Amino acid sequence: MTAPRPKTCAACGRGIAAREVYYRFKLVLEGEQDVLDASGGGEGDDLAALVKQLEEGPDDPRELEEQVHWERTGVVCSACRLVVVRALAPSPTPAGPH
Ligand SMILES: [Zn+2]
Repeated sequence: MTAPRPKTCAACGRGIAAREVYYRFKLVLEGEQDVLDASGGGEGDDLAALVKQLEEGPDDPRELEEQVHWERTGVVCSACRLVVVRALAPSPTPAGPH
């Protein structure tokens, strides 16, 4: 009888027991920009500049590449699932001071 491979939560690093519920995720963060800064006053934060830096062979291509396309897959435990879901949920209108 082969036991399933032990899993580790990608968020908190906790080992997930075989009998525990876990949540598989795939997260892709892709850099996008709706309006390009045509004024030329950009400080290199816009996507076009990033891509240009990529093409020019920067010192750390991986870091720049991850700003354009970042992808992770894995599993998280139920506690971290809650954190992720809360973090990505549309924030409720903050309770104003009045
Ligand atoms: Zn976790």
